[in-house]
Amino acid sequence: MKASGLYIHIPFCKSKCHYCDFFSETTLLKKNELIDALLTELKTEMLFLHEAKPVIRTIYFGGGTPSLLEETDFEKIFSTISNFYNISSCEEITLEANPDDLTSEYLQMLRKFPFNRISIGVQSLEDNELRAINRRHTSDQAMEAVKACHLAGFENISIDLMYGLPEQTLDSFSKTIEKALSLPVSHISSYALSWEEGSVLYQKLKKGILKQKSDEFLESCYFELNSLLMANGFLRYELSNFSHPGYESKHNSSYWDGTYYLGVGPGAHSYNGSIRRSNVSSIDGYISGILSNEPVRDGESLDMDTKYNDFIMTRLRTTKGVFMHELERLFGISKRYYCMYNARKSIKNGLLIYEDENLRIDEKGLFIADSICSDLIWA
Ligand code: SF4
Repeated sequence: MKASGLYIHIPFCKSKCHYCDFFSETTLLKKNELIDALLTELKTEMLFLHEAKPVIRTIYFGGGTPSLLEETDFEKIFSTISNFYNISSCEEITLEANPDDLTSEYLQMLRKFPFNRISIGVQSLEDNELRAINRRHTSDQAMEAVKACHLAGFENISIDLMYGLPEQTLDSFSKTIEKALSLPVSHISSYALSWEEGSVLYQKLKKGILKQKSDEFLESCYFELNSLLMANGFLRYELSNFSHPGYESKHNSSYWDGTYYLGVGPGAHSYNGSIRRSNVSSIDGYISGILSNEPVRDGESLDMDTKYNDFIMTRLRTTKGVFMHELERLFGISKRYYCMYNARKSIKNGLLIYEDENLRIDEKGLFIADSICSDLIWA
């Protein structure tokens, strides 16, 4: 059996970013109870991965803001993980972090644990844009945080950048990318701003205080990002993810190649080849459910049609694309015919490339990848 992924969700933030509608809490009052619940879930759910002591290849601390955890929290979590999971050959352990948490003291503390990758929520390197989305750090602080990580010995550093932000222009986005390229980062993820209904930005949009950027603007940002990163030694390995060769995120890649993973914490998702499930998205509901052994999750058994759809939607987002012999082996010849039949139009228009049994999205189809993929979905 392939080694699995472990995801640990920490639903606390110091303050609320204005684009975010996530259910995180801005106090740490329930942190200790949450850690107890996480440890309980780690101890009781390993069989979801079909093994008594599952072999783990990647661990990802996401949130929320996992960089709000302290040394004693990490000690408890890592000790439980090593007791109940086999992490002797674990290749990647990532901590998501906010720039203002990454002081040299904090980084020295992190070095006591087996983290080998830091993923920093930078979002922009222009102060007016950071203020407009209520990030609690400045551009300088973010740049210093990246340098401090490097100085502390982390060589696998990822940053997140956003485009489509209020106040952003194509020129300011290019400046952000150029500043990012001057930093010791090996991986960049970049997504368009999503106007989530529960967010402060969405309310401002509805009141007419803010305007959404046009698709043309977003497309220009996306292609600017591609060309600047490619010209500077980065490879695009997924639509929104770029890295130096060998620094692709192993954890995120495993979501796209069907690897099993266990997610613990409120709102965390898990997948074991036949079941996909998610934990309740509430801190109180999660803690009380886990600690009193009450159900805290919804799940679904995946039929072959759903698995085929997941396969198409995730694989086509990667530069490797879909190998037809693999699709046929997994889902049968009828799905292969179905996929190729529905791909004809996009192949003809040059949005999809088909060669040597491999179907992948061409450069000019990248920005409309979702609609290209949806044509191939089993309806
Ligand atoms: S974007 Fe991240 S740091 Fe900001 S409020 Fe949402 S979860 Fe917290």
